[in-house]
Parts: sequence; structure tokens; C-alpha cells
Amino acid sequence: MNIDFLIIGQGIAGTVLSYTLMQAGQSVLVMDEYKANSSSRVAAGVVNPVSGRRFTVAWEYDNIYPVAVKVYRELEALLGIPVFIERDIYNVLPSAQLRQAFTERTTGLSYMEDVSPERLASYEQWLDQPFGAAIVKGGTVLLHHLLPAWRDYLISRNSLNESRFDLNLLEVNATGVKYGDITARYLIFCEGAAIVNNPWFNYVPFLLNKGEVLYVEVPGFSTPDIIKRSVSLVPRGEDTYWVGSTFAWNFPDEAPTVDKRAFLENGLQQLLKVPYKILEQQAAVRPSGTDRRPIIGMHPVSRVLGIFNGLGTKGSSLAPAIAAEFAAHLLQNTPLRPDIDIKRFFNKYKG
Ligand SMILES: Cc1cc2nc3c(=O)[nH]c(=O)nc-3n(C[C@H](O)[C@H](O)[C@H](O)COP(=O)(O)OP(=O)(O)OC[C@H]3O[C@@H](n4cnc5c(N)ncnc54)[C@H](O)[C@@H]3O)c2cc1C
Repeated sequence: MNIDFLIIGQGIAGTVLSYTLMQAGQSVLVMDEYKANSSSRVAAGVVNPVSGRRFTVAWEYDNIYPVAVKVYRELEALLGIPVFIERDIYNVLPSAQLRQAFTERTTGLSYMEDVSPERLASYEQWLDQPFGAAIVKGGTVLLHHLLPAWRDYLISRNSLNESRFDLNLLEVNATGVKYGDITARYLIFCEGAAIVNNPWFNYVPFLLNKGEVLYVEVPGFSTPDIIKRSVSLVPRGEDTYWVGSTFAWNFPDEAPTVDKRAFLENGLQQLLKVPYKILEQQAAVRPSGTDRRPIIGMHPVSRVLGIFNGLGTKGSSLAPAIAAEFAAHLLQNTPLRPDIDIKRFFNKYKG
């Protein structure tokens, strides 16, 4: 098999990059070992324009959001499934200070608005909201639909190899790579957290962080909104919700823990006035760089090897715009912006 791009990994990075390159007429093979708790499979896919207690606007949001919506709508049309849903993020305010912070931020930001008294009242029987709530306009990428549907699409095009990529079998030369009977002009690693075991990119400083989530049923409570306080409730159909998430930078393994379950339950109990039932707990590792920016580009010496990683906590909103920038670099040699270019770490490369 002779192709333009061999892509390792089919999380949101590998999915969107393979789509973007195929749209540009490139031949692509994606190699992915199915992992039930990959970061993209455990994530809720929330797209939130603001973050933190000060409602700070997310990095590059006004540039990346339109690209994300465009690409996810294209994928909906191609795959015949829902991929992106615009949703209100109903922020339950935990204090008068936070209400003040929200009010200060709303000026001039079209995606933030105060909540109407009627809407507040409609949540009163379900949520504890003594300081009221505020709306942020966001959305969710339905990763649990998109990832399997893109996998099926790749299979139908003979463009998926469902196995583990073994670096020991890789041959790299000046004009491309060889892996068994596959030859490719470029190999792009979209491995998520597994990148820390990849000797080709071991000079890049990653700061992996583990997140845990619950799936819960809240009998009788059904809303299309994302409900957010110290934890977020993201609708998964009828009265079932994804609840997340936690952060841990030191962790012995990827397994769910009792401590984080207690943390999430505590958040739920602060938020809900009604009983809930836990259906499942999951954990996954987020692939974050130390400067919390995406990491894309080519190896300093072996220019046929590339990386698309570092999506951190925001893979769903970032992946389409970053994939578009990387594809333009790969196909038209357009320079990458320095803040996402892997070149910013070349001074750590020891050869
Ligand atoms: C609990 C939690 C909640 C989150 N919530 C959100 C959210 O609401 N919104 C948001 O935007 N982001 C969220 N994120 C972050 C988001 O999930 C990540 O930014 C994104 O999933 C990273 O995608 P990726 O494709 O880089 O990596 P991954 O999703 O980890 O994908 C990597 C893929 O590569 C495969 N792979 C690795 N090595 C090999 C190999 N050698 N051979 C074959 N296959 C290989 C893996 O099996 C996997 O399928 C969350 C993350 C977590 C953990």
C-alpha cells in the first residue's frame, strides 16, 4: 500500500486531521488501536467560550469556533449523523462575587447573557441556585457518535488499520516511511497521551492530566442545556447525564478512583435538589503540553514525521482549526504560528 499520509491514532485529533487531508485529495491510512478510555471517548465534547471563575475568554475562541462549526456540520452531512449541537451552558452561580464577575464580563461579549426569571423558575425544583444563574452560549460535539461513525467511514474506504502501531517496525528515510507493506510520504502521530512513550518526540514537555467522570440518571429531569457549577452535567439523552470532570497531575494509573468519585458526588449534591443514580464511572488522561497550547509540526531532523497533539482540555473546539493550519503547512508549506509550532521546543532536542 502506497499512501500520502499514515496517521497514528483516531481520537478527535486523528479524526479531524484525516478528514481534512482526505478533503484536500490526499490518500490517508489511519492506524488506531481501539481504546475504550481514550481521552476523546471519555470527554463530553463541551465547547465553552469562557473558562475559570473570571469567565476569561478561551484562547483564540473567535477564530477557532467558526472553523469548528463548519467542519462538524460538513461531517454531519457526510456521515448522516448529528455531530454538533449548539447549547446554552447554564452556569449556576455559587456566590454574589461570581454574579458580579459575570455581570462585568457580559459587556461586549455576545455569547454571554443573563438568565430570564422564567428560565430560572423552570429549574427551581431541580437545582439549588440561591445566587441565580447566567447563560453562556456554547455547544457539544457528540464524540460518541462522531468517532465510531468516522471509523466506519474509514473502514468503508479501506483507510483504517485497527491495530497497534509498533515503532520497532518503522523505517524512516528522507522521502517517507515504511511500515510493513505500507509506504507513506508522511507519518503523523495523533496518539494522545501515548505520545510520552514515543522516542521521536521525547524532548517535548508534556504535562499529562487525568480526568474522571460519572454517568448518572436524574429521574424526571430532562434539559438540553449544559448545567455547570463545580461540576458540569452534560445531557446524554432523556434524564441521563455525563458529570465531570476532575483533574490530577500525579496518578499511578488510568483507573477510576474512590476519591474522585466522592469529589464528583459532592459537586452533584451541591447542585441537585433531587436524587440521582450513578450508572458508571470512567477515567482518561488528557494530552496537555506544559504551555497549554496545541503542539503541531515536524520532527527537527526527520522531516517526514509529524505530531498533532497537546489539545489538552479543549480538543473538541480546537481540533478543526488546528488541523486546517497543519494541513496547509503540510500541503502548501504555509508557516505555522509560533505559539503552536513544535519548533518552540527544538531547543530541548538533544539529537
Ligand atoms: C475527563 C475528560 C473530560 C474532557 N472533556 C472535554 C470537553 O468537554 N471538551 C473538550 O473539548 N475536551 C475535553 N477533554 C479533552 C479532550 O478529550 C482531549 O483534548 C482530546 O480528546 C485529545 O484527543 P487526541 O486525539 O489528541 O487523543 P486521544 O483521544 O487520546 O486519541 C488518541 C488515539 O490514539 C490511539 N493510539 C495511541 N497510541 C497508539 C498506537 N501506538 N497504535 C495505535 N493507536 C494508538 C489511542 O488508542 C486513541 O484512540 C476531556 C478530557 C477528559 C479526560
